Amino acid sequence: MEPLDAVGLVRGIPIPAVHPVRRALWAASRQVLAEAVTTERDIPPFHRSAVDGYAVRASDVTSVPATLDVVGVREAGDATPVALRPGQCLKIMTGAAVPADADAVVPVEETRDPASTRGEAEARPAAGSEGRPRTVAILSGVAAGANVAARGEDARAGSVVLPEGTFLNGQALAVAAGVGRKELSVYPLPKVALLQTGGELVEPGGRVGEHQIYNSNSTLLAGLLSDCGLGVAHYLGICRDEREALAGAIRRGLECDVLLLTGGVSKGDFDLVPEVLESCGARTVFRGVAIRPGKPVMFAATADGRFAFGLPGNPNSVLVCFYEFVVPLLERLARLKRPAGSGEAEAELTAAVRKSPGRWYYAACRFRWESGRLMADPVHAHGSGDYVNAGRADGVVLLPRESTGAGAGERVRAHMWGRLG
Ligand code: AMP
Ligand code: MG
Repeated sequence: MEPLDAVGLVRGIPIPAVHPVRRALWAASRQVLAEAVTTERDIPPFHRSAVDGYAVRASDVTSVPATLDVVGVREAGDATPVALRPGQCLKIMTGAAVPADADAVVPVEETRDPASTRGEAEARPAAGSEGRPRTVAILSGVAAGANVAARGEDARAGSVVLPEGTFLNGQALAVAAGVGRKELSVYPLPKVALLQTGGELVEPGGRVGEHQIYNSNSTLLAGLLSDCGLGVAHYLGICRDEREALAGAIRRGLECDVLLLTGGVSKGDFDLVPEVLESCGARTVFRGVAIRPGKPVMFAATADGRFAFGLPGNPNSVLVCFYEFVVPLLERLARLKRPAGSGEAEAELTAAVRKSPGRWYYAACRFRWESGRLMADPVHAHGSGDYVNAGRADGVVLLPRESTGAGAGERVRAHMWGRLG
């Protein structure tokens, strides 16, 4: 099977309906909004000064310099009523409501306070000061509406400010906060279980025999999930390649939305994952893809909408298969609607990559920009098992099945791995 066809199967598989959950605003970060958020008030809710300056009638400053009486000063949040007669103005701070009698604000930089020797206006009258009114010289005219954010110009009361399906990044959460929401209804994130198979594996920190290796795949997957804003709902640990034990662990894993297995999917005598998955009710959707690394990768689904990926044990296969096959499913389960083609690009290879025909080669690369051009530095890993070198990759370039590689300077198709959203 072609890798892009396998991704098509992941994107096309029916997924179960989910019930939205309510989350406190900050806890809704990186999830998808399950409701439309509307604003009860106009935004801005009042005519708001966009600068520090003087609220004036534009008609009072058609010829400049013009000297106006300063009737007071208003800070943001101040609602003391103020009446302005012709020839009068109000000193006003950014964010304060522009009084009804004014229609523009002259920035403080365009004014001069006659009482000030510094030239710039410093016309804050002392609280309760009596006697001669303070004046200010307006040095440049302003059009009606200048430096005023008009009530309702950003959004009208009753309108939708965040549609259902919005990915809640910081900016979107701030919009919800800005309309006064402290909770949001979101789609729950998929629950992911991890299960690593192989008799050679020992958890980091444990005593490793000469022919054993440390289990790095659990940490790799937990880290990749975390990079995507997801967690591990159930860590099932290491399982030996043994039917009974494996079936028990797989059954527990399938209580989550997605079970990520590594190892045991190839053609070895102890590669039991595909048949044990079937025996646990997970029907194989695909098994074996013409991709390097990751050829034995498999995907299975249960009748009640739980999914399992059998990823080959080699750490680089896990990395590539996670971004290429698993992430598209996780995005769907999280109700994330990615625009088609996001993360796809054309990049210039900085060194030749050679391959033999027969399988697509998803060559690990590190991407960077150089004078506006996207460059792909191939990461020279010594095969699928070299996690030390492949760790620097942040994407792949796709070399087609029958090609024999690509040379330095060639433009090739690239997948840049990113976070969910
Ligand atoms: P398998 O797919 O089980 O045949 O494993 C392929 C290769 O990946 C073998 O060299 C394994 O030792 C290695 N491997 C399998 N699982 C892990 C793991 N959890 N962490 C690190 N290496 C692994
Ligand atoms: Mg194994």
